Formats: sequence, C-alpha cells, structure tokens
Amino acid sequence: MLKLSDVSVKFGAFTALQNIDIEVSEGELVVLLGANGAGKSTIFNTISGLNKPSSGNIQFNGKSVRGNSPDRMVKEGIVQCAEGKKLFAEMSVQENLMMGGFVHRKQKAQLKQSLAEVYALFPILKDKKDDAAGSMSGGQQQMLAIGRALMAKPKLIMMDEPSIGLAPLIVEQMFSIIQEINKSGTTVLLAEQNANAALKIADRGYVIENGAIVLHGNSKALFHNDAIRKAYIGA
Ligand code: ATP
Repeated sequence: MLKLSDVSVKFGAFTALQNIDIEVSEGELVVLLGANGAGKSTIFNTISGLNKPSSGNIQFNGKSVRGNSPDRMVKEGIVQCAEGKKLFAEMSVQENLMMGGFVHRKQKAQLKQSLAEVYALFPILKDKKDDAAGSMSGGQQQMLAIGRALMAKPKLIMMDEPSIGLAPLIVEQMFSIIQEINKSGTTVLLAEQNANAALKIADRGYVIENGAIVLHGNSKALFHNDAIRKAYIGA
C-alpha cells in the first residue's frame, strides 16, 4: 500500500533521514520505534507531504506520491493524526471533528455517518461534544485528535506518539482503541517510544536511529531482540 524507497531528507547541511526503506501493506499495523530525535516525525511529515525528500521515492497504492501537497495526500487517503495539543482549543469537540471531515464537506450523509462512528469509538467525545476541546484532559484531547483524523476516512492513518504524557491506564485504553481502528479496516502506521506496548499490538516494526533504519522485522522477533529490550523495553 505504502512504499518508501531509499528516501533521504536534508534540512540544509543536516541529513535527517538517510536511505529509508519502509513498506506497509493494506490492513497492517506497523510501528516505527526510536528515541527522541531519531527521525520518526520527519518520516511522517515526509509521507504527508510537509517535508520534501532530497532523494528517493514514495508510492501509495502503486503510484508515485512524492512531492504531493499535504491536502492532496489527505485526498489520496493518508491522514496524519495531529498531537493533542494541535487541536483548535477554543472550538468545541464536535467543531474540531467536523474540521477533520473538511475534505468530505459536500458528502453530508457520509460526514454524519463518520461522526456517529467516531462517537461510537469514543463515547466520551459524544458526552463532551459541546465542550471546548482545550478544556478536556490530555487523554481525551488525544482521543479527539484521533477522532478528527478518522473523520477524513483515511485508508492509512499515521499516529505520532499517541501515548505520550498519558497515565498508564489511559495508555492501555489508547492502544486497545488503536488496535480496534486497525481491525475495523484502517491501515495504521504508529510512531512510538513505548516499544513494550506498541509491539504487543503491531504486526511489524522498524527501529530508527539517527535518521536510519537499523532493524526491522515482525513484532514478536523485535520484542525478543536483546538490543531492543535493552534500549527500549528496559529488561
Ligand atoms: P521526537 O519524538 O522528539 O519528535 P523524532 O524521532 O520524531 O523525535 P524528528 O522530529 O523526526 O525526531 O527529528 C529528527 C531530527 O531532525 C532531529 O535532529 C531534529 O532536530 C531534526 N529536524 C526535524 N525537523 C527539522 C527542521 N524542520 N529543520 C531542521 N532540523 C529538523
């Protein structure tokens, strides 16, 4: 479904990504593991069209999407889930969700159905639909950020550290919702530092260090890999 081949990204003289190869098949849940500054967000921003690769190719469903604008990528079906803090804090929960469905604004019936699906997945958002987004807890805002991305009906959703800053119980809930989103048919690319929780729900993973992929494989193999356990799982 998504294929990055030999993708490099430079910011001036600094090489942020070096010869990245990533493949995601339809229906998969794939995790990118890496420490702060490893390059996970840069990979997402490059896929979503915010960063331009200095070399390499990006294909989505067999056609080149390299150089597409971010709104073109959303129309293609790749949606990046903003971090909770990038919501419209003053606007209501429902208004934020409707903004996520902007690309489908002419299909009123579809929007209504998407909204109902998001509320079924996150009942708390329905309860708080008229509250200002900024008034909710960190976990609820993260749920709203995911809900807003789902309103665009993505084929592939990219989530950047959805568990960051959340209490352990909420983290568990978050990962089970991500798994549910994947099982209901949306392909998921997840960036995480929480390797322990992410590898439990992912099919496959890639480990990024200093802008390069140093290891990849199925989640079970990565979970039992000594270097990964030492660096990311702490056992
Ligand atoms: P984090 O979890 O901290 O976001 P990350 O793995 O997502 O980490 P990136 O944000 O992708 O890491 O950053 C990778 C490297 O690229 C870092 O050294 C960062 O400082 C650098 N970088 C990212 N964006 C830019 C930019 N627009 N201009 C210059 N350098 C950048």
